[in-house]
Amino acid sequence: MGSSRQSSSQRGSLTRRQFLATASAGTMAAVVAGSMPAYANAGKKAAKCAILGGQPVRAKPFSRWPIWDKSAEEPVLAVLRSGKWYRGSGTVVSQFEEKYAALLGAKRCVATMNGTNSLLTALHCLDVGVGDEVIVSPYTFIATYNVVLNSVALPVFADTDPETFLINPDKIEERITENTRAILPVHIFGLPANMTKINAIAKKHNLKVIEDACQAWLAEWGGKKCGTLGDLGCFSFQESKHLPAGEGGAVVGNDEALMDLVWSYHNCGRPYGSVKGKTGYPIVGNNRRMTEYQAAILLNQVQRLEADTAKRVENANYLTSRIKDIPGIVPHKLCEGATRAVYHLYPLRYKQEQFNGLSRNRFLAALSAEGIPCSAVYGPQYKDELIEAALTSKNFKRAFPKERLDRYRQELHYPANDQLCQEAVCFTQNLLLGPKSDMDDIANAIQKVYENRDDLVKSQKA
Ligand SMILES: *Cc1c(COP(=O)(O)O)cnc(C)c1O
Repeated sequence: MGSSRQSSSQRGSLTRRQFLATASAGTMAAVVAGSMPAYANAGKKAAKCAILGGQPVRAKPFSRWPIWDKSAEEPVLAVLRSGKWYRGSGTVVSQFEEKYAALLGAKRCVATMNGTNSLLTALHCLDVGVGDEVIVSPYTFIATYNVVLNSVALPVFADTDPETFLINPDKIEERITENTRAILPVHIFGLPANMTKINAIAKKHNLKVIEDACQAWLAEWGGKKCGTLGDLGCFSFQESKHLPAGEGGAVVGNDEALMDLVWSYHNCGRPYGSVKGKTGYPIVGNNRRMTEYQAAILLNQVQRLEADTAKRVENANYLTSRIKDIPGIVPHKLCEGATRAVYHLYPLRYKQEQFNGLSRNRFLAALSAEGIPCSAVYGPQYKDELIEAALTSKNFKRAFPKERLDRYRQELHYPANDQLCQEAVCFTQNLLLGPKSDMDDIANAIQKVYENRDDLVKSQKA
């Protein structure tokens, strides 16, 4: 869409004619090159939207997920036939842990049954629990809230920076109390949170840092892998994730003694490395072990992770270049210091004013009808019942003074996050795995919806 760089507010003041004039020079070359259908052409009436009875931009599905081939079968069958189905008798989980630690440049990795339990393990092993407070990003998958609440700790949210979709580091310090024990930043969508600032705040206030890297396999901050920058990093290998095994998780870290504790805890509290005792059970443990089957699938899947990641990054960058000048479409911004974002979802913000009042839901429906699957993803979940359910529970009433819980309720306002939840539009990672022309389909569909916005607003009211 042309080469003019404008701020979003400047773009907001563009009339439709000015926009088309700006767009036309770049558009014509693209039409000739065949990368853009003629409806984006200046001066012509836009083709009718699919949701209003027109032809969709795209009829083909995007890439399936998960992706595997015959080579995935043998290792799973080998585990089955060996009769060694748990890590105590087999070696496949250990092989995966070594491989994953090496991939991240982490000293150690302990595999678990899923990401939620990786986070619970990290909290426990860093001694974050009953009566403590944890600073958390409100814009995340619900597991991030749940693990803190399950630990009978308060998830104290620091508001989101809507431009980056990430925790706003400048909002963290004002939330710290004498009971704050940890910061739990989330690299949501594989966009790296500002770990330099977060680690500096943690150091100043003597807090632990647990990275929720459950969407950030191979993402990088300052050239280092996300998940290796705090005290412990947690990953998920659930089916939708970039390294999938149905269910699965990992805790990674560089502190040997701490990782010994993680190992011991995840294996019923049995002695491991520096965790020693006079008896068989020196510490209270849990069973959070990964099965050998999960690891067999992961060792096969991990072979495609780097190439898939590179493809997603390339397509995401190209998609950004194609949509950034469409009025009302605001691509996400990376924090300065992020060296690789990995796009578990590709996020943008939708400004309905610039679509002449077309609601985000109607925009999502129109885009979906064009053959582009999309969604709003996360809502302001701190308004859901789970918070009050926790605060009124027996354990929370015992663990926290009433004044603290009352104040917590009063402070549960995150206007920037609320706004983001109303504006976010996301594409899942599998849309980024195809050829460049798939990105053109997404961009062209958005452009088409933009050009049809008046008709869509009329039909929205009707
Ligand atoms: C997937 C995910 C989790 C939880 O992982 P599971 O393996 O599903 O338990 C936690 N946090 C975030 C941000 C996630 O995306």
